[in-house]
Amino acid sequence: MLVREAKLLNGTLNQYKSLDEAIRTAQFIRNKAVRYWMDNQGVNKSRLYKLSKILASEFVFVNKLNSSARQASAEVAWTSINNFYRRCKEGVKKKGYPKFKKHSRSVEYKQSGWKLSDDCLLITFTDKFKAGKFSLYCNSETREDLFTLKINRVRVVRRADGYYCQFCLDVDRKESGNYTGNLIGIDLGLKYFYKDQNDNAVVYPQYLRKSEKKLKRLQRQLSKKFVKSKKPQSNNYHKARIRLGLCHLKVSRQRKDWAIKQARCVVASNDVIVYEDLNIKNMVKNHHLAKSISDASWYQFIQWLEYYGKIWNKVVVSVNPNFTSQDCSNCGHRVKKSLSTRTHVCPSCHTEICRDTNAAINILKRGLEAVGIEWNNSTVGHTETADLASYGGASLTETLGET
Ligand SMILES: [Zn+2]
Repeated sequence: MLVREAKLLNGTLNQYKSLDEAIRTAQFIRNKAVRYWMDNQGVNKSRLYKLSKILASEFVFVNKLNSSARQASAEVAWTSINNFYRRCKEGVKKKGYPKFKKHSRSVEYKQSGWKLSDDCLLITFTDKFKAGKFSLYCNSETREDLFTLKINRVRVVRRADGYYCQFCLDVDRKESGNYTGNLIGIDLGLKYFYKDQNDNAVVYPQYLRKSEKKLKRLQRQLSKKFVKSKKPQSNNYHKARIRLGLCHLKVSRQRKDWAIKQARCVVASNDVIVYEDLNIKNMVKNHHLAKSISDASWYQFIQWLEYYGKIWNKVVVSVNPNFTSQDCSNCGHRVKKSLSTRTHVCPSCHTEICRDTNAAINILKRGLEAVGIEWNNSTVGHTETADLASYGGASLTETLGET
């Protein structure tokens, strides 16, 4: 379980008051549950659940709280009761008899009573307290987790400086054991988004190119409307500014979704993934539009490769990209070529393949060397490294740790 936090912003005073009411109600249920346990014998968790139902029918304000949140409050009471039992059993000196709470600062929801917007920028509380919509202020890491991980619980916490939302995320989603025996070396390029050692290419989709062109156009329109040293800029300027902002958001989301999809696909169908270290790759000083676009997507793509590698316990390795496109993948002979040379022709062993495929093979070889898997030279362009079987889950993680 991973907990991520975001600040709840842009609510009105009344909205925050509603959150307070929900928190108070959760405390009320918890205390009632503890009281019930004190007064009755043989109380268990399901009895407390029932109690929370009964309370809802007795008190109007309890009924306002979402039913799963009512249950969660009963669970909170049960946890402290259970901890008390455990300590009794263990013979700990401080038993910690359950007490009533006076200053609870949180309320917990399960799967209902709240709703995230599709872009994970807003959360709406939908129970009868009608706290409504809040903006979520958090770092990009949290945002990514909200996008990709399953949210088990949502907890509203009141702090001195405001209200926060904690998301309990499901990270035990390790779908390990889903090994395919495949290896992949990835050459990131301009002509193709990437190409692997088996000559499979993935191209950057047309719809993304189109949106990015639109972005450029809006950017130009905005700068045309900008008048230097004019205090309030014209209305048209601000309209253009908003248009650009919206477009930017859309494009970055499209780009991100696509990068995630590609990375997920690569990691799902391969056990060892080798790519070139882009931090070293800054060699092509090319201000071509396509270059900058690919750059942005490459970085995201690689981040998600690493991410899925961790979740699925697979080997994701980065290697030094120097000379990967020059060296012959078959015999190692260095064949100088310019950027425009699309085919690798080796004068030494007469291998003739696409330059990107050649690079992908070299990248894969370097990666395998780094993790200690033997590369069989006769299987160029063909992956049959059965050694993976000896590569159990544990050693896979070790390798991941090293890279
Ligand atoms: Zn050669």
